[in-house]
Amino acid sequence: MIKEQLKTLSEMQEFDDKIGQYRVLQKELPKQLAKIIESVDAATSNLLTIESERAELNKAQRAVDSDIQQANTQIDKYAAQLSDIKTNKEYKALNSEIAYLNEKVSELENLQLELMEQETEIKERIQEAKNGLAKAEDEKRSQEGALRDQIDKLESQIEETRAERNKLAVTLPTNIIRHYGNMIKNKGNLAVSFTKDGSCGACGFVIRPQIRIELQLFSRIIFCENCGRIMIDPALYDETVEE
Ligand SMILES: [Zn+2]
Repeated sequence: MIKEQLKTLSEMQEFDDKIGQYRVLQKELPKQLAKIIESVDAATSNLLTIESERAELNKAQRAVDSDIQQANTQIDKYAAQLSDIKTNKEYKALNSEIAYLNEKVSELENLQLELMEQETEIKERIQEAKNGLAKAEDEKRSQEGALRDQIDKLESQIEETRAERNKLAVTLPTNIIRHYGNMIKNKGNLAVSFTKDGSCGACGFVIRPQIRIELQLFSRIIFCENCGRIMIDPALYDETVEE
């Protein structure tokens, strides 16, 4: 009789262990889901950032192009004026203006090259960012649905498991059920403790010799004197022990 009750309690604990695992998933899966969605958001904003950097760069490139064009136009204008110059002094002045503009154009052309290099680099970064986004979206596509399904099912899985456990509970005395329930609620979801090397397997409290003997007799339900959990000697499941 007691042996049957202890076996029932042990089975109930297995159901509660399962419920505990579902509870862990209830916490963890939404985090996983959020992480997957966040990485798509992060990859999107990363791409947008680099694309706006590129837009800024292109704007700077257009400004440099236009400066070069303006300077060249000016140079052509001055060059045309050179033939009309009468005095040596004016000629020198205009020539030095042209030289200055040529220098400026050459500087601008260097800058133009530099910006082109930057653009090559930025194009590579955009490609990397696009790849990153595609990867994050793939991951989302392949995992989001399954994760949501799993999350949606957990509550009913917990309900079903709890119902299975309760079916077992009805065969036990009310005070034992109540004690079991209190332990599950207040002692980390663990109500049943298998003894180990003369100690409570849950809290490690050393069991008095008298109780240790009683535990092997299976003549009554015994609670740990320290943590209150229902203690079971593993010999309960020994084939050699008389049923
Ligand atoms: Zn204990």
